[in-house]
Amino acid sequence: MSTPTNEVVSYGDTPDVERPLGRSIMRGMLNRCPACGSGKLFRAFLKPVDHCAACGEAMYHHRADDLPPYLVILVLGHVVVGGFMLTDMAFVLPVWVHLAIWAPITIITALVSIQPIKGGVIGLQWALKMHGFGGNDDEPDDYDASGRQA
Ligand SMILES: [Zn+2]
Repeated sequence: MSTPTNEVVSYGDTPDVERPLGRSIMRGMLNRCPACGSGKLFRAFLKPVDHCAACGEAMYHHRADDLPPYLVILVLGHVVVGGFMLTDMAFVLPVWVHLAIWAPITIITALVSIQPIKGGVIGLQWALKMHGFGGNDDEPDDYDASGRQA
């Protein structure tokens, strides 16, 4: 594999590579490894790879958790409710017509947008060295379930 000379490439969890926030988020949203931009980020729908196939950057310790669905609901909720209210003011439509318009739009848009948004969240966490992406584990991992230091 050849590497462009002006590109900073991380092997493993190298803590001292450049991590521009916007580029990392954009690469994640495009299903690319935030570190190198060439390996795939997802192996299946919403399932990130454990390690980047191109550069070996570890991805298994991301913690996107509930943020991607929260962002989808936040954005899509405003768009759909706003669209419903606008069409309801402009046209007199029965409820079933509104449901036939807005339910499919909501479901399809949510399914299409959640993986890019999750990729963006993983890119954000990588850029900010969160959750082990900088080479250091989060501190709570050093404690067991009872709160004692491991
Ligand atoms: Zn990579």
